[in-house]
Amino acid sequence: MADGVCKMPEKKSDLACKTDKSDRSSNDNEDSESSEEQPLDVGEHYLVRRSNESWHPAEIIQTRYNDAEGHYEYYVHYEGFNRRLDEWVPRGRIMSSRFDMSEQNWKNSDKNSVDLLDQCDRKITRNQKRRHDEINHVQKTYAEMDPTTAALEKEHEAITKVKYIDRIQIGRYEIDTWYFSPYPDDYGKQSKLWICEFCLRYMRLEKTYRYHMSECIYRQPPGKEIYRKGTLSIYEVDGSVEKTYCQNLCLLAKLFLDHKTLYFDVEPFLFYILCVVDKHGAHLVGYFSKEKESPDCNNVACILTLPPFQRQGYGKLLISFSYELSKMEELVGSPEKPLSDLGKLSYRSYWSYVLLEILRHFRGSLSIKDLSELTSIAQTDIISTLQSMNMVKYWKGQHVICVTSKLVEEHIKSAQYKRPKLIVDPTALKWIPRKRESKTGKK
Ligand SMILES: [Zn+2]
Repeated sequence: MADGVCKMPEKKSDLACKTDKSDRSSNDNEDSESSEEQPLDVGEHYLVRRSNESWHPAEIIQTRYNDAEGHYEYYVHYEGFNRRLDEWVPRGRIMSSRFDMSEQNWKNSDKNSVDLLDQCDRKITRNQKRRHDEINHVQKTYAEMDPTTAALEKEHEAITKVKYIDRIQIGRYEIDTWYFSPYPDDYGKQSKLWICEFCLRYMRLEKTYRYHMSECIYRQPPGKEIYRKGTLSIYEVDGSVEKTYCQNLCLLAKLFLDHKTLYFDVEPFLFYILCVVDKHGAHLVGYFSKEKESPDCNNVACILTLPPFQRQGYGKLLISFSYELSKMEELVGSPEKPLSDLGKLSYRSYWSYVLLEILRHFRGSLSIKDLSELTSIAQTDIISTLQSMNMVKYWKGQHVICVTSKLVEEHIKSAQYKRPKLIVDPTALKWIPRKRESKTGKK
């Protein structure tokens, strides 16, 4: 590993680790410039300027070479502070000489200074929390946990995962990332990755990316276009046929999903890729994955709308599409748990809309089972949605729909009721369920 070498810069030859990165070696200027700079030692302590401008002793945890800017960066841990505050800093924020930890008694319990550190920590933690909340306004998975679990979880994340990739360039969008993603080798150590929006290949350098874009033959996802309405297109991609594409998609998605665990074992899944089509090609907007055979009757495994396209109705379009597929399969389905907060809100909103639309027009009696068969929404999801609207009673050991047209109208007029911005047109769906496909294939 090149990084292992970079940590021990005593010998001049160690600088070779920077030049054996294949697509950098041709840039002579960059190399001669950077060879003057030797990386600091991992494990050493320095005074580091924090984001609040104060100087604080910190340990160098990791180093990386920023190709784009031509200098080293350092992942530092501030002594006595929570690991959540660990961060990447450029050399300019680190004092030139080492900090001797034994010389100073700052660490030895001088009550006042400890209090000061504590206060400072709390203040920053709150600020950081606010920043974290702002960045993750759509995806607050920690909120699903109790406070202790959430705190432990955050701590665990901070200790085990150095988030290297800060942002990506995909198509015309430069996007700040939210979470760690296990991109392999050196790719996972970059501050910025360049990603082809069509084949999803990831690259470390802009010039490699530019060259790739000039020669990439893809202008749409691989697989079959199964839906086209106006400028919106949905492709079905089989994980066992287009393994690399699907793995690349999962790695990309992990940058924006906290609790995703699937990256490489993509064969058992189908991927439904939503694109906006223009004269240049079909541009990735979002996707959901689905197990080919789900023992738990999940009709969605993972669902994501890329940040630039969020809050425009695409997420709910994907949810709606997943139920259209279930209806054609004559199956009842439910999204895989746990859902993120965004997921929960979108699903609850979709379910409420679908159920209210049926209830407002339907005359006569309806059971929860009837609603489930009409919509392909699982009975437990229907019950929880009706409960949230106060439309279900538990009577003689079962849930019974209990609703008046007045109550339905009230909910339709309420702020929670949202007519979807985009709806699926089932007539534009060209798709045969796999089971029926294989049956007809045998005949
Ligand atoms: Zn490509």
